Amino acid sequence: MATAIALRMKGIESEVFEQSSAIRATGGALLLWSNAIRSLRALGLEPAIMAVGAPVERIEFRTARGELLTSLDIERLSRQARAASVLVSREDLLTILSSALPAAAIHTDARFLEYRAEENGQATATFAGGAASTADLLVGADGLHSTVRAQVCGAGPLRETGQIAFVGVARAEGALDTGTPIATVGAGLRFWSGPLRDAGVYWYATVRATDAVSRDPDVAKRQLLELFGGWHEPIGELIEGTPSDQIIRTAIADRRPVERWGAGPITLVGDAAHPCTPDLGQGACQALESAVGLAECLEGADDIVVALRRYENRRIARTSRVTELSFVTAIQSAVDHPLACALRDLGVRSLLVRIAEPELRWLMA
Ligand SMILES: Cc1cc2nc3c(=O)[nH]c(=O)nc-3n(C[C@H](O)[C@H](O)[C@H](O)COP(=O)(O)OP(=O)(O)OC[C@H]3O[C@@H](n4cnc5c(N)ncnc54)[C@H](O)[C@@H]3O)c2cc1C
Repeated sequence: MATAIALRMKGIESEVFEQSSAIRATGGALLLWSNAIRSLRALGLEPAIMAVGAPVERIEFRTARGELLTSLDIERLSRQARAASVLVSREDLLTILSSALPAAAIHTDARFLEYRAEENGQATATFAGGAASTADLLVGADGLHSTVRAQVCGAGPLRETGQIAFVGVARAEGALDTGTPIATVGAGLRFWSGPLRDAGVYWYATVRATDAVSRDPDVAKRQLLELFGGWHEPIGELIEGTPSDQIIRTAIADRRPVERWGAGPITLVGDAAHPCTPDLGQGACQALESAVGLAECLEGADDIVVALRRYENRRIARTSRVTELSFVTAIQSAVDHPLACALRDLGVRSLLVRIAEPELRWLMA
C-alpha cells in the first residue's frame, strides 16, 4: 500500500491486490525508526503516524534477572536523523496506509498466481478465480514467501535461524506499563517489550526451535510462561496478560541477498525483495524506504524498465547490508552456552553503545 501511495503521489495510477478477504493486521506492533518516519513524511503520513505512535526515547538492555546492561539513547539518535522513532500498532499503520488510497484501488480476495509478459512491454497478472489485470508495471510486494519473486528471479532457499518468535499485545490495565522498551537476553531466549500509545504493551519473545513449543495456543502459552519463568517482571505478566489465541507464532528466517529483483516491467519491494530477521526492527522500515525510492526512480521516467533497474541498483546494497546485519544479530544474541552468554553480556555492557551507535546512525540516516 505504501508503494501504491508513493506511485500515486508521482501521478502513476496504481492498484493493490491482496490475497486476504480484508486488510487486516496480524502481529502486534512495529518499531518504526527515523528512516521509516522520513519515508512516511514523503507520503504525507507523518502527522497521522505520530498521532498514534508511542515515541521511543531509550531502549534498555537487561539480563534475564533484570540487571541493566546498558541503554541506547534513541531520542538523541532520532534527533540527529531528523525524525522521531515510534512504536506503532500494525493495525494503526495499515489503517493509515489504506485510508490514503481510494477504496476502489484496493482489491481483496485477490491471490496472485502468475504474470505473463505481453509483447507490448506490459505485464498481465492473473489471480485465483480467473481474474486478470494488465498494467505497465507489476510490483511484487507479497512478503517473505513472494510468488512474484519466485517467478521473476527464483525464491531461493529460506535461511533459517533456528528461532521461533511469539508476538503479543498485553492489554491488561494499569500495572503493565513498562515505561520504556526493554530488550532482555538470556540463554538462547530473548524478550522484547515496549508500551504502545494507548493499547497496552507490545512484546515479542524468541525461543529455540529445539524448545519444541507446541502449536496448540493454550499449551504454547503455558510453555512460554515456563521458559520465561524467573525472568524479570513484567515479562511473566505480559505473557499472562495476552489471550493465548492472540499470541502469534512465526519462524524467524530470511533469504540471502540477491543481485537482481526484477526483469522487464516487474520488480519487488519489501520482504519480497529484501527480507530480514526482526533483530534490528528494520524490515518494514526498509519496505517503506523502497516504496518511496521506487516512486522517485519512476517519476518522469521515459523508460519504465530502465527506471526499475535504477531503483534496484540504488536499493540493493543498503538492503543487503541490513539483511546481513540483522541475521548476524539474530545469531549472536541468541547464544545459549553459559560462557558465550557471559561474553555476550560483557560485550553488550561495555561495547554495545560504541558498536551499535554508528550502525544505528547509518540505519536511521
Ligand atoms: C516478530 C517480528 C517483529 C518485527 N518487528 C519489526 C519492527 O519492529 N520494525 C520493522 O520495521 N519491521 C519489523 N518486522 C519485519 C516486518 O514485519 C516486515 O519486514 C514487513 O511486514 C514487510 O512488509 P511487506 O509488506 O513487504 O510484507 P508482508 O507484511 O508480509 O505483507 C505481504 C502481503 O502480501 C500478501 N500476499 C502474499 N502472497 C500473496 C499473493 N500470492 N497474492 C496476493 N497477496 C499476497 C499477504 O497477505 C500480505 O498482506 C518484524 C517481523 C517479525 C516477524
